[in-house]
Amino acid sequence: MRPPERWPLHPAPAATESLSSWLRRTASSYGMYSHQLLEHALGHRELSDAELDLDPPRHLLDELAIRTGLDQHRVQAMTMAGWVPWLFDSLTPAPDTYETYVHQLSVLLPPARRQIYTPRKWQPWLAEIRVLRGCRECLESGPTILLFWQLPLMASCPAHRRRLETYEGHPADYIKWETPADDQRELPESLIALDRRTWQAITTGSVDLPRRSVHAGVWFRLLRTLLDELSTPQGRYGRQLEDVRRVWDHCGHPFRADLHSWQPFETLHWARQQQLLEAAAAAMEMIEDRSLIVRGTSAHLLHPEPKAPITDGTPPRSLTGADVQKQPTLDELWNQVTTILDTCIAAAKTDPVIAKHLFDFARYGCRSEESARGLRGTFAELQIPLDFLSQTKEMDPLPDVE
Ligand SMILES: [Zn+2]
Repeated sequence: MRPPERWPLHPAPAATESLSSWLRRTASSYGMYSHQLLEHALGHRELSDAELDLDPPRHLLDELAIRTGLDQHRVQAMTMAGWVPWLFDSLTPAPDTYETYVHQLSVLLPPARRQIYTPRKWQPWLAEIRVLRGCRECLESGPTILLFWQLPLMASCPAHRRRLETYEGHPADYIKWETPADDQRELPESLIALDRRTWQAITTGSVDLPRRSVHAGVWFRLLRTLLDELSTPQGRYGRQLEDVRRVWDHCGHPFRADLHSWQPFETLHWARQQQLLEAAAAAMEMIEDRSLIVRGTSAHLLHPEPKAPITDGTPPRSLTGADVQKQPTLDELWNQVTTILDTCIAAAKTDPVIAKHLFDFARYGCRSEESARGLRGTFAELQIPLDFLSQTKEMDPLPDVE
């Protein structure tokens, strides 16, 4: 059989461009609409922008890769499905999706302080109603729409340092911004810093935090955890109530974005989502400048480097016995870690849920199919059953963005 013909015109996708946007630009180079390109050139039924950008049929993505000469992973990365398991655990909702995504880490509050909700059909960052959101300056230079503008993951454009805004229409033909051009609220530096980190996670696969860099998968979950902590019902805060109030005072928005009853972040109006993102940015800034003491087990990721002591030139004295007792030695810390790991491994041998959590945790570091295979081999050696793998989506390599 003759291989499908390579299309002569196919504009290169921009970094993190959505599939619907790239397809529309490709179709317009032939004077067509994207549904006409799908029907006439590929014999495929029309798909809405939302269907194209979420989880389109795999054979369509393979066909587009062949027609344009793009790498398959590059085409997949233009869809949300291409971001499993880094941004989403899976695109199939499960009863424990919220708990797995939002409750494994903790920042402001001690672990287990928050109530675990089980919202129906919940997926992190995704709402049922698609919101059109973009950077005015980016869209003035061309009708390229980024996949991540659809998600309430960032509130600003790191390239232009301006807020993302909601609009109606199709940028290629007609666009109506919902707020006037001169109605831009000030962009706090803390929000710029937060969005810059999220952008780094999206484009490089990791984020530089004060003490170390973390995998993008950890960053997205850390941010979502913080948003949950900042909107948790007031009665759950206990002794941290005043601290959380200080965060809201610092960012200048009403406590808990004035929520009267709990709702997942994803279903809130964009105005409230922006307030929560600004509060998360303020909390991170306050943790890093040591003006907020927090109780979460993952908060150390945001702690600043210890300050170098100011000396008068005399050499530092040797540690006394009392000083040594204050800080555990590296050997003691390592013993604690191995004890905890041994306990987890023993539990994972009999409990598939723990086995899956352990596997998900360990595979954050796996950036290739080869290292993922190595991880499966290690689990087999440790006699941890891998039955849960057959029920979850097979791992794809990290989406490839420029
Ligand atoms: Zn921009």
